[in-house]
Amino acid sequence: MATKRAFIFLGPPGAGKGTQAKRIAKMCGVPHLSTGDMMREAVAKGTELGKIVGPIMQSGQLVSDELVMKMVEERLKQPDCATGCLFDGFPRTLPQAEGLDKILDRGGFGKPVVVDLAVSDDKLLRRLTGRRTCSVGGEIYNVFEAPPKVDGVCDNDGGQLVQRADDTEEVVSQRLAAYHRQTAPLADYYRRQGVLQELDASLSVDEVTRALEAVVKRAEGR
Ligand code: AMP
Repeated sequence: MATKRAFIFLGPPGAGKGTQAKRIAKMCGVPHLSTGDMMREAVAKGTELGKIVGPIMQSGQLVSDELVMKMVEERLKQPDCATGCLFDGFPRTLPQAEGLDKILDRGGFGKPVVVDLAVSDDKLLRRLTGRRTCSVGGEIYNVFEAPPKVDGVCDNDGGQLVQRADDTEEVVSQRLAAYHRQTAPLADYYRRQGVLQELDASLSVDEVTRALEAVVKRAEGR
């Protein structure tokens, strides 16, 4: 039987984790677990969790490790995670990475495949402030680099394209600061475990996908 595998996409906000994660999760047949998406959904639904995390997300700071770990543990109990999963935007702090190691161990996962998608800060700013997401299917566009055929409308399903509330210039600089302070050290954590793959994510979306496909195939011994 194939190993139950966790894929982890590290990298700063705007590196293209969400876009690539959707593609690679589909290719591997595992669920795409984005902690940011889960919390945005909670905010949109107005749940108790949403009420707590909404203002924190809007400030560009990170949500507490305790809340995030609880949410991820619950999600991993769903049957669709039985063959593995792909984490996007998680873990984001050292305690989250250590907590995840324990969960993966208990859950019978093999060693995770960790990819660090690296992009310089000046590129990230343009990517984040230009990002638009389809309000129906979640397809991601960039008004500068990958615009839709018709302004504000999704090519796939005609859905309205919206800008994330935390993709404004002020909040983006907070998010990048949080990344450098709290998340960037995780590359070292996984490098020491010998599971880190580094990838230049300033290339085009399709080039990055091809590089990721090669990483996944290598990891699965294909
Ligand atoms: P993202 O969609 O991954 O860019 O996340 C958007 C926001 O959600 C972040 O700026 C944080 O406020 C929060 N968030 C998402 N994932 C995490 C996480 N693993 N730990 C803490 N906060 C998170």
